[in-house]
Amino acid sequence: MDDTHDVPYTKYFKMADISEKENIMKKIYGNTYLLGTLDNMRKNNRLAQSVIFYGEKGSGKKLFADYYTSLLLCEAPDGDAPCGKCTACRTVDSHSHPDVTYVPTEGKLEGYTVKIARAVSSDVCIKPNNNTAKKVYIFRDCKNMNVQAQNALLKLIEEPPEYACFIFTADSKSEFLPTIISRCVCFGVSSCTEEEARHSLIESGFGADETAAAIKCFHGNIGRCTSYIVDENLKNQVDLTKRIANSIIRKDEYELNAAFFTVGSGRNDIHSILSMIDKLARDAAVLSRDADAPVIGCYREAAVRLSTMITAYQAVNIHNAVERGCRAIDANVNSSLVLAGVCAEIMEIMA
Ligand SMILES: [Zn+2]
Repeated sequence: MDDTHDVPYTKYFKMADISEKENIMKKIYGNTYLLGTLDNMRKNNRLAQSVIFYGEKGSGKKLFADYYTSLLLCEAPDGDAPCGKCTACRTVDSHSHPDVTYVPTEGKLEGYTVKIARAVSSDVCIKPNNNTAKKVYIFRDCKNMNVQAQNALLKLIEEPPEYACFIFTADSKSEFLPTIISRCVCFGVSSCTEEEARHSLIESGFGADETAAAIKCFHGNIGRCTSYIVDENLKNQVDLTKRIANSIIRKDEYELNAAFFTVGSGRNDIHSILSMIDKLARDAAVLSRDADAPVIGCYREAAVRLSTMITAYQAVNIHNAVERGCRAIDANVNSSLVLAGVCAEIMEIMA
């Protein structure tokens, strides 16, 4: 889906005649096909009322949710939307548009509950007052949504008033029931090329060295690259993943257990680290067939080393062990127990 260009392709949320200083809207890098599709939908007056943007964390789903909202609400003629200039575009960009609701999550799991879905249902009945006569509800980072909440949402998107629009973002389409998916237009958001990511990060004011280090870990994923530079926690997670990878390579069960022990009990931290280990296993499997293949994980050197030690079959087994671990964490199994289990399984696979 992602086109590769010699020159990084950038799409501005603005008319070409606005000076850089006046450019108040963010740029989207890559995803040229998706941008073209969305622009055509607006031009042909076929913007869908319910959409899902899905893709890896950091790939730009929220940016696309804002872009789609601008397409829905922009007051400029169709060919120019979103213009980045009109009141609607400006207020969407600053998240202050009166008819755009960023639906809040609830509880320890930060999820969308039945209560929230019902609150949105009653709010939908109040007509909008903007020029385009639309109301937009954005559900960001949908995950762990229970069936009751999804069914309440389903009622909402099955027969919405014609002014109501619903935008969902999630890491994966599988977060939603098939009945929800069938009533939404789904768009996959993909990471950019490394060159596009480099261009974007430098333009955001980051230094060349920190940008290179971030891209080495997170490649064309601009969101994750940015987090790696500004968020100490992600940097620590990468360091810990490297420690885990080295323990696996050395088949050092004691050290592997010790490294897993320091992951802590935060669900997001555990998911983040398990996902990086999963990518390492994936990279090792791919590199065992093609030593020059591009990697998606944060530690190429370890993946190369691992690829000479294990078969693709063993790598798949590591993936399965990690995935089981993630599911157990989601099911609220004690995190120390889960991590000890993953550790034991990996050691057995490596034996
Ligand atoms: Zn506009």
